[in-house]
Amino acid sequence: MARPTQQSREWFARAQAVIPGGVNSPVRAFRSVGGEPRFIERGEGAYLVDVDGNRYLDYVCSWGPLLFGHAHPEIVAAARDAVTRGTSYGAPTPLEVEFAEAVCAAMPSVEMIRLVNSGTEAVMSAIRLARAFTGRERIVKFAGGYHGHFDALLAKGGSGIATLGLPDTPGVPAGFAALTHTLPYNDADAVAALFAERGAEIAAVIVEPVAGNMGVVPPQPGFLERLREITRQHGALLLFDEVITGFRVARGGAQERYGVQADLTTLGKIIGGGFPLAAYGGRREVMEQMAPSGPVYQAGTLSGNPVAVAAGLAMLRLLSRPGLYEELEEKAAALQAGLEEAVARAGVPATVNRVGSMLTTFFTAGPVTDYESARQSDTARYAAYFQEMLARGFYLAPSQFEAAFVSDVHTREQIDATVAAAREALATL
Ligand SMILES: *Cc1c(COP(=O)(O)O)cnc(C)c1O
Repeated sequence: MARPTQQSREWFARAQAVIPGGVNSPVRAFRSVGGEPRFIERGEGAYLVDVDGNRYLDYVCSWGPLLFGHAHPEIVAAARDAVTRGTSYGAPTPLEVEFAEAVCAAMPSVEMIRLVNSGTEAVMSAIRLARAFTGRERIVKFAGGYHGHFDALLAKGGSGIATLGLPDTPGVPAGFAALTHTLPYNDADAVAALFAERGAEIAAVIVEPVAGNMGVVPPQPGFLERLREITRQHGALLLFDEVITGFRVARGGAQERYGVQADLTTLGKIIGGGFPLAAYGGRREVMEQMAPSGPVYQAGTLSGNPVAVAAGLAMLRLLSRPGLYEELEEKAAALQAGLEEAVARAGVPATVNRVGSMLTTFFTAGPVTDYESARQSDTARYAAYFQEMLARGFYLAPSQFEAAFVSDVHTREQIDATVAAAREALATL
């Protein structure tokens, strides 16, 4: 079962000399699971191929974007066609308009959007807008929620921060962090209590409507509804960070799935079809505050990049296929059921949380409803499971606190093979 990793090891050594930790995003580094990251040579459908020639069935899917797997022919064709007409103009294009119209049509609460290059940028801009619109400075977020790496929202940021066991991060001025209140996920009473005290100072509540960055944690019934109610009562904005969930848990994102509409929404990952493309949008009267129609400044040299937008539009066209979300749901439910049966058979305490095509196997008896309960997971056991799966050719997230993503190109046979491998892997723990 041992796979050759010599080439990856050599590239990692070279990388570490010129890139901090050898990677351009921390969770890629396998720090919490051990061993060296695999250096990737190419992606093909549901598979990753590394520089040593190993093939892995990919459940990371670039951390969410690849709902149609790697190198989907229609997305590749759209990008290839666009690139021959130039890679960036610094001037508006028809495709941007079509793209914006398509997103607005899919998400009723999004009446206008602005395109940016990353989820981080989308959230940062949306927070600035929320502060400007309300004339307030305080922000409420939830522990374990990740909203990108900008200063104000790194407190208890889940994901890579949880994986690396960092307390938060140095370099964030205390004054910025002091304006961010962090409450437990799924605890609407805590939100109500904070608003009772400081409601008039709070610009926005930002939430992953399905948490994905502490591992998958669904919103409990009523949680999102109460956030909607409390923010409305106090004149604060409700910001749904749908960078993962947008076009993932339903075409119209978590807002469609749970029937709760946000004032502002951030999107990323899936909408770019694997290119750097993200967006924020929402109510017209709020979005119109953005320059040049309003006074709130935000700009970008490569924003609405024609190649990324062409790929994104191809992605949105693929996403309109009837039955797509039902099929994703079915395959992911089969994976969940198979994994639940496998952990039970192995006698390993574990909880499989799933919403749509995103799921996490937490190595704790659970239930996992927030960051505290997610952190009860046995991360050493996850690391061992990860290595056993990797050795069998299954590429899971190199961290307990992440989602596995099922894509349209994952087949039922591949799901069954994954469950069979998980059974073997769990038996070794
Ligand atoms: C990934 C992610 C971000 C940040 O997006 P980047 O494109 O990595 O900057 C923000 N919010 C959520 C919920 C995410 O999952």
